[in-house]
Amino acid sequence: MTRLYNDPSAFADEMIDGFVAANRAYVRRVQGGVVRSTRTAENQVAVVVGGGSGHYPAFGGLVGPGLASGAAMGNLFASPSSQQVYSVASAAERGGGVLLTYGNYAGDVLQFGQAQERLSAEGVRTATVVVTDDISSAGIDEIEKRRGIAGDLCVFKVAGAAAEAGADFDEVVRIAAKANDRTRSFGVAFSGCRLPGADHDLFDVPEGRMAVGMGIHGEPGISETDVPTADELAELFVAKLLGEVPPAVDRVEGSRVAVILNGLGSVKYEELFVVYRRVAQLLEQAGLTVVEPEVGELVTSFDMAGASLTLFWLDDELERLWAAPADSPAYRKGSVGAVEVMDESESRAEAAADETVPEASEQSRAAAALVVDVLRALSGTIDENVEELGRIDAVAGDGDHGIGMQRGSAAAVDAAVAAASRGAGAGTVLLKAGDAWADRAGGTSGALWGLILRSVGDELGDDSAPDAASVAAGVTSGARAVVDVGKAELGDKTMVDVLQPFADALAAGVQSGKGLRAAWRDAAEQAKVAAAATADLLPKRGRARPHAEKSLGTPDAGAHSLALITLAIAGVLETSN
Ligand code: ADP
Ligand code: MG
Repeated sequence: MTRLYNDPSAFADEMIDGFVAANRAYVRRVQGGVVRSTRTAENQVAVVVGGGSGHYPAFGGLVGPGLASGAAMGNLFASPSSQQVYSVASAAERGGGVLLTYGNYAGDVLQFGQAQERLSAEGVRTATVVVTDDISSAGIDEIEKRRGIAGDLCVFKVAGAAAEAGADFDEVVRIAAKANDRTRSFGVAFSGCRLPGADHDLFDVPEGRMAVGMGIHGEPGISETDVPTADELAELFVAKLLGEVPPAVDRVEGSRVAVILNGLGSVKYEELFVVYRRVAQLLEQAGLTVVEPEVGELVTSFDMAGASLTLFWLDDELERLWAAPADSPAYRKGSVGAVEVMDESESRAEAAADETVPEASEQSRAAAALVVDVLRALSGTIDENVEELGRIDAVAGDGDHGIGMQRGSAAAVDAAVAAASRGAGAGTVLLKAGDAWADRAGGTSGALWGLILRSVGDELGDDSAPDAASVAAGVTSGARAVVDVGKAELGDKTMVDVLQPFADALAAGVQSGKGLRAAWRDAAEQAKVAAAATADLLPKRGRARPHAEKSLGTPDAGAHSLALITLAIAGVLETSN
């Protein structure tokens, strides 16, 4: 459990402050995370990593010469927002382009993806390599759906080394992708972890048992056994990883591999060494040569007791890059030579917060007050259901849906109130609220809710008074945007299974002349039914996907919260005048 904290909601921010204070020779703080504080050559490709906090040394601890250029650091176990990624990448970029590389989680993919679009639109060459090393999270036939775990380090390390050596953008991207293709990991866990201020663990593993294949956010494993001996665990790890040698490797015997035996948070280094003793013997027996292994904590999961083994199948090029010097707060190798602390004014200026609001008509400003009430009701219903939403998400996902929605909706209310008080119209209030939601919530749902609010805001605008038709059109365009970005289809067990029928019912009701209140109420009742029906579906998208069958009988978290929200809004519309 996490014992030392102040205000739990400030934990991630305060952690970053302290981390930076302790590592000024390596990093400086920028909005959304950290970048190197040392001078980087002009035109060097920027390798920008990131993800939720709680995985130290991933991701901030891996920033420094020969490794990452910057790290976007999200909230606890929540992906950073696209604004955070954009801000870190902008501060890190040196004219040579940006490689975004991170573990494959739905929320991170959405948020980094949006940041990439924005960077590209501004003329910064940007590419993405997602890390997919965890063989337990999907079959070989769906390799692109696998999660990223400790193998993150292999990809970051060689990409960073290549960039440091002056490789150009295409080279760095090629090398990172090749490293990911040749990296495989497998993990186990003996206990869950408890986030700051929580009164129970985020997930549990029964006493004396071991979850096999469990993810680094407590995503359920593929099976469970009694806790083995250290040697038996080593045997399991090696057997699993030799059972899936990457296609690019011609022959196991004679191959050279980098090895990471990773502790997840509360397994002692001494225990890891006992396991590694046997791992090394087994790899040697298989005819492999181990190159510069790492035994220790490289990608953790708060205080989760667990371990993973990673094999990174080298070729000459990758071996050279794996062995190259690197110097970061948590990972050091060889000597990178003299470094110079960089003057902050040399990086691209950070965008100042935009405080101005566009002109709005009187009717639209009046409607903005109703929008604020709607957002308050939305946030209120999330507050009332926060534990329940977390519980539902924990069944097959990572348990953060309640806190993520709470953070996002509260930030949306604050931003809406601030914009309305400056005279913003309904459209702008929703745009600001959507930005704030995506920025503060992180995660998949944060990105998607940000999109929904912005879509409705775009449709309403700041000129005319919103009416039933424009609200319905806004919800329809929000549903379309969610599908465009998230790529989920009806039946995939996501919020789309509620959003789509809700949008359709609202549009149909308005079309038939019902008026907004009645049409919204009817559509919300349908949303409730649709959310309950997701209990019978198997997830095909998002974090829940690897554990499809576990979620049968439980509705989808994002679908459930959406239905609650539509019902709360129906109540506000009925009492407004
Ligand atoms: P994360 O999955 O990043 O932990 P949350 O837990 O806040 O984010 O949200 C999970 C919810 O997001 C899921 O229950 C599902 O409704 C929704 N979701 C996940 N992936 C998608 C997607 N590709 N399209 C639409 N909704 C999605
Ligand atoms: Mg979640």
